[in-house]
Amino acid sequence: MDFAKTLFLNPPSWEGFDGGAGSRYQAKREIRSFWYPTWLAQPAALVPGSRLVDAPPDDLGREQVLDIASGYDLVFLHTSSPTLRGDTELAEALKNRKPDIRIGFVGAHAAVLPAETLAASEAIDFVCRKEFDYTCREIAAGTPLDKVDGISYRREGKIVHNPERALIHNFDELPSVMDVYKRDLTIENYAIGYLRHPYISHYTGRGCPAQCTFCLWPQTVGGHTYRAKSPEAVAREMEHAARLFPQTREFFFDDDTFTAYAPRAREIAKLLGRLGITWSCNARANVSYETLKTMRDNGLRLLLVGYESGNQKILDTIKKGVRLEQAREFTKNCKKLGIVIHGTFILGLPGETHETVRETIEYAKEIDPFSLQVSLAAPYPGTELYRQAMENGWFSSEVSLTGEHGQQTAALEYEGLSREEIFAYVEKFYKSFYFRPRPIARMVREMIQDRQVMKRRLREGIEFFRFFQTRQAVS
Ligand code: SF4
Repeated sequence: MDFAKTLFLNPPSWEGFDGGAGSRYQAKREIRSFWYPTWLAQPAALVPGSRLVDAPPDDLGREQVLDIASGYDLVFLHTSSPTLRGDTELAEALKNRKPDIRIGFVGAHAAVLPAETLAASEAIDFVCRKEFDYTCREIAAGTPLDKVDGISYRREGKIVHNPERALIHNFDELPSVMDVYKRDLTIENYAIGYLRHPYISHYTGRGCPAQCTFCLWPQTVGGHTYRAKSPEAVAREMEHAARLFPQTREFFFDDDTFTAYAPRAREIAKLLGRLGITWSCNARANVSYETLKTMRDNGLRLLLVGYESGNQKILDTIKKGVRLEQAREFTKNCKKLGIVIHGTFILGLPGETHETVRETIEYAKEIDPFSLQVSLAAPYPGTELYRQAMENGWFSSEVSLTGEHGQQTAALEYEGLSREEIFAYVEKFYKSFYFRPRPIARMVREMIQDRQVMKRRLREGIEFFRFFQTRQAVS
């Protein structure tokens, strides 16, 4: 079969912006970090001869990307709500350079707002909705657009929506993304503060059975059924990855909730144990001691855990499905087993007040994960939180989902709690948590044990303070 010369592109945007093809939180953070463009790597693995360009971590600017892209006939560009305007301008510049190039937009924003995304510019020939792996392959193989499920496109001046594409259920059929990573990415350019460097992240499955109202991927692309590779396929892929990237110090499973089906997580852990690799994953704060122990005994180092709030009513409102008591117990178990936790919290969720923010800060200090990150509620189109915000008038009129340089910003506000106050609480939260003897001692110990960590932490410390200084200068 002949395939078009195809480029999968995570476009450049604001400097250090990690919101595009891999990140579930689409904003620039206090500390420079980059996730892998897994969503693009998967179709790239299905299209022979294609290339994946991840502009932000490779520091590729607009002109460099235009030079590369004009050597292709078909471009799939991963867009996001905050970057749509810039991505559209890039598509227009590319069409000016090479009028016969075909450009399709993919990603959560295109999935939930296909007509609006197409309407943004005539330079966009089509958008792919929901899971787009096989959609990309069919288009690259020359299938006429009217025969391709899961796309919206223009025909005779009108926007046409083809039928939905069925979600993928047999994940073992999908080729590994590791060969694409090896061919097209520089893994040393990817860093996440709490993961060892260099790290590699990818998905072994998609979808999450939980119903959190703010969460992007399950509500827009992946759905609420966890569809995943078999444990044997995961083990084969990891063995391959360890051979391809011997320098990797940690593998991260970025599945929405890797632990959603505990027997599978345990089975995979046992197979990974034989490979002797260090790994980490996303987890909800409700994993049993038995499962945690099996995972720890087989190379698990760290869990990324969404606690979100220290107020039960807020957790119930956002449908987190985890009780504070459960999360306390889970955290204690992790500590007992020596599993490191990076906890994530969100400020500005529905029901937030000055008092609930205080409760959340105190809760974080009480359970005391190894490290944490504080995000601002981000109501992306397609999520229940977005719908609620529109219905209840919670959107602050002046702001969008990110600030003018792509940094996270408070988009929502409530009676008695302004967006400025919510934003200011982020810094307060970080300071209240980190400026205590225990976290400081932990960090110092970690830095003494590993010189590479010391260098990174010092750099991150500078970035962290610069971020807040810049913010103060702006506000
Ligand atoms: S458990 Fe995590 S991945 Fe699943 S819906 Fe909630 S926030 Fe999203």
